[in-house]
Amino acid sequence: MTEPSDVRVRFAPSPTGYLHVGGARTALFNWLYARHHGGVFVLRIEDTDRERSSDAMTAAILDGLTWLGLDWDEGPLHQADGIERHRGDVLRLLDRGAAYRCFCTADELESRRAAAGAAGGDAFRYDRRCHAVPAAESRRRADAGEPFAVRFRVPDGATAWQDAVHGDIRFGNADIEDFIILRTDGTPIYNMAVVSDDVAMRITHVIRGDDHISNTPKQIMLYRALGAPVPVFAHVPMILGPDGRRLSKRHGATAVGEYRKQGILAGALFNFLALLGWSPGTDEEIFSRDALVRRFTIEAINRKSAIFDTQKLEWMNGRYLAAESAGRLAPALRAAFGDSPPYADEWWAELADLLKVRARTIAEMIELARPYVEDDLSYDDAAVAKHWKDPAAVASRLERLHGDFRALAEWTEPALEQALRQRAEAEGTGAGKLIHPLRVALTGAAASPGIFEVARLLGRERVLTRIERAVATLAAGTPRDGR
Ligand code: GLU
Repeated sequence: MTEPSDVRVRFAPSPTGYLHVGGARTALFNWLYARHHGGVFVLRIEDTDRERSSDAMTAAILDGLTWLGLDWDEGPLHQADGIERHRGDVLRLLDRGAAYRCFCTADELESRRAAAGAAGGDAFRYDRRCHAVPAAESRRRADAGEPFAVRFRVPDGATAWQDAVHGDIRFGNADIEDFIILRTDGTPIYNMAVVSDDVAMRITHVIRGDDHISNTPKQIMLYRALGAPVPVFAHVPMILGPDGRRLSKRHGATAVGEYRKQGILAGALFNFLALLGWSPGTDEEIFSRDALVRRFTIEAINRKSAIFDTQKLEWMNGRYLAAESAGRLAPALRAAFGDSPPYADEWWAELADLLKVRARTIAEMIELARPYVEDDLSYDDAAVAKHWKDPAAVASRLERLHGDFRALAEWTEPALEQALRQRAEAEGTGAGKLIHPLRVALTGAAASPGIFEVARLLGRERVLTRIERAVATLAAGTPRDGR
């Protein structure tokens, strides 16, 4: 982190839906930029659309940001609380002649639009009829209670900016109509509220999705008309699904909360989102939060859209899972099985330790834990075919191993290993001839963590019971050949 600076950025979600991974990435880039520069990260809830906004969504957004560790320095501020200031800015624009009252009714506009359409003209743009109303008359009509909206007088020429991601962007003003900034009901329009807030909050850099590019020329005109400094704009490319279409539910989970439920770790999603459309400049992919803060620059945001690759997220999550402390994973594991068997925390932590390096998500870890937790094992067909090929021989070897295990003075990994190796020697076979069949007996599968760790963790009683069950199954004919 560098010295405190005057960098002020904001994340401005509309609480009309959950925190989408795209929104989370926008928040993350703003946060990284603020932290990199020792600036301020403001959270503003854009809740002026009363009908579509809800407190529950606001709470879910705050929750998602908190879970990801995106702490804000100011806010959450609510856009709806600023409505008097928004109106005040509209009045200033009116006073300066940068805006004017428009008395045209919806019906009048509709019939003029229809007439323009019939004449085969361009898409109808407001014809500035009310711009011609003299100021004194405009005021008199307003004072007399005639309803009006306020329109911004779009100047001639062009509006251009140096986008920090896309470079030079330019819009011809002739293509932009005199847009409404205050509705007839006295509420400000979206672009007006955003600019009024960004000015009041002294925002220096606007980092947001490039679906907002078409709003930017209007917003820049408003800054200029208000005499406020225009911030730096950085429009971040969209996130696409693997099919190249904009990421949506069709591609799977899009809400941060869904990934959390699936057992994706906050650190992994944080790392993954940071690399979604931003290049660290190396081939490395695992970065701590501090490393990301140190490296982050707007210049390294890609112009091209990023593809959301779920497999990569899962791979990354596996790396974070393996590095996570077993003590922190244990409660999730324990809860997944309703605290049964009622082992101590340490038992669940040891199980987590054994499995975390083998799973990509917590959900996968829970699946892997099943044979250690539940006694109704099912034997995997391929494992049986491979390691219980000769049922009679396997059964008698396992039976003798059962006797050795039952007689063990202490139930430790070295003692278990020594007993098994001695048994193999006495049988005149390699240790593998016992280890693999034992693994199928204890876990039902051909692969597992180290078999002595597994046996120790299961405990003597369950190991002996499982060997007995395997022997009985083998005697009855293996489940596969169905004898
Ligand atoms: N409220 C807008 C949105 O959720 C963001 C506005 C902005 O960042 O300027 O898309």
